[in-house]
Amino acid sequence: MRSKRITVIGAGPAGALLSIYLAQRGYEVTVYERHPDLRRVRIPAGRSINLALANRGMHALAEVGLMDRVKPLLIPMRGRMVHTEGGPPQLQPYGHKPHEVIYSVSRGGLTALLMEAAESSGRVAIRFNHTCQGVDLERHRLRLRDDGKEFEIDFDRIIGCDGIQSRIRQAILQSASDHCEEEPLAHGYKELSIPAGENQSFRMEANALHIWPRGDHMLIALPNLGGGFTATLFLAQEGDPSFATLCDAARLRAFFHQQFPDALALMPQIAREFFHHPTGTLSTIRTRPWHFRDEALILGDAAHAIVPFHGQGMNCAFEDCGALNACLTRAGEDWDTALAEFEDERKPNADAIADLSLENYLEMRSSVRDARFQLQQELAWRLEERYPDRFIPRYSMVMFHRIPYAEAKRRGAIQDETLDALTASVHNLDHVDLVYADRLIEEKLADMNPP
Ligand SMILES: Cc1cc2nc3c(=O)[nH]c(=O)nc-3n(C[C@H](O)[C@H](O)[C@H](O)COP(=O)(O)OP(=O)(O)OC[C@H]3O[C@@H](n4cnc5c(N)ncnc54)[C@H](O)[C@@H]3O)c2cc1C
Repeated sequence: MRSKRITVIGAGPAGALLSIYLAQRGYEVTVYERHPDLRRVRIPAGRSINLALANRGMHALAEVGLMDRVKPLLIPMRGRMVHTEGGPPQLQPYGHKPHEVIYSVSRGGLTALLMEAAESSGRVAIRFNHTCQGVDLERHRLRLRDDGKEFEIDFDRIIGCDGIQSRIRQAILQSASDHCEEEPLAHGYKELSIPAGENQSFRMEANALHIWPRGDHMLIALPNLGGGFTATLFLAQEGDPSFATLCDAARLRAFFHQQFPDALALMPQIAREFFHHPTGTLSTIRTRPWHFRDEALILGDAAHAIVPFHGQGMNCAFEDCGALNACLTRAGEDWDTALAEFEDERKPNADAIADLSLENYLEMRSSVRDARFQLQQELAWRLEERYPDRFIPRYSMVMFHRIPYAEAKRRGAIQDETLDALTASVHNLDHVDLVYADRLIEEKLADMNPP
């Protein structure tokens, strides 16, 4: 099929960026989005207000020429500010090189910028308030609902960027013998806010991602332009404590007073927000296939929703867009080849970041408090300095490099074993046996060429 007409479902981060890539390749794109235009209406409170943007996402934004426009929206976060029980907060840097930072960005601000750039290409039309109700892939018919009215239209080629509940994923699955696994997390989340101080001043360190790790649950907070923070409580849905037990203002206050007293002091609206904002659910989606002939594809959360504990869902979705673009270039616009290659390349990587994200929940809510975790982190940096071609800390591989996620997971597991072996009986970095380290790294970790 040589058509230059593409239909995209969903104008979230993935759909908006993908339509820019496609427009730059000369395609005419129509995007259908179920919500109203977020540039004109207020986004309902409590729906993931800010996100961490890292190297993979920024690479894609730079590829489409938007990084200079995105920069003013970003707040650098140099590390985790860990709020332990009792002691003062401590900054644990994410990396040991000046550029090893991640950035807090407003989801709405970034998506609005992408929509603006897509529309100004002259090749992208976004139709808001249009909900995809279903797709008939054989007949190339798309069922939409607009203002209560249902109707059908034709499409040539369709790409589902319609998030975790994707209709396009459902349609592709109906045409295939494979299946989709959904793994719900037993913990949910609630968004709250820490307002700015006087003259839009930050009331905690601005250039950090704040974490209150409490073992079974945690609170985090990311800075926003304007001096406030968006805080997110991750907590079990059932059991004690859980969202089920925090059922009135008194219990909520007592829980925060006991667990997060310094945060509570900065949250004057806590009860109103807690009981008005929705409790979000979190799941991992693993599905296959991702495409139907050369005519339909899913990417972003539609193909691989992951839990948010590595801050990679959007970054991975942006990397998908860049990877599809590269596949189309390599295949000379032959979509049949490009879609098969795209799925083969991205599926194992999506599975890997799904696993790493689940593992990172334990790290964020618990391990960051341990002296051993901190010792291993410092040792990892020392080893990176000593063996720059062989050892890159796992967090850095995911956040600051574009090493395929599956490779980061594979190397990360070997590195973790190496760090365990080197710190088994020492408590101080200066006592680590570097001759043993040389031998382990020589044996276990071959040279790598980070892209
Ligand atoms: C609490 C939380 C924190 C997170 N933090 C981070 C982070 O720090 N860093 C990071 O990289 N990622 C983070 N993520 C993940 C990130 O939000 C997602 O991976 C990202 O939004 C995926 O983008 P997407 O465009 O694929 O899907 P979505 O953002 O879900 O967008 C899908 C779009 O499709 C539209 N749509 C859906 N169904 C239909 C339909 N039937 N018809 C028409 N339109 C439809 C939706 O309205 C939406 O606009 C976080 C997620 C959560 C829940």
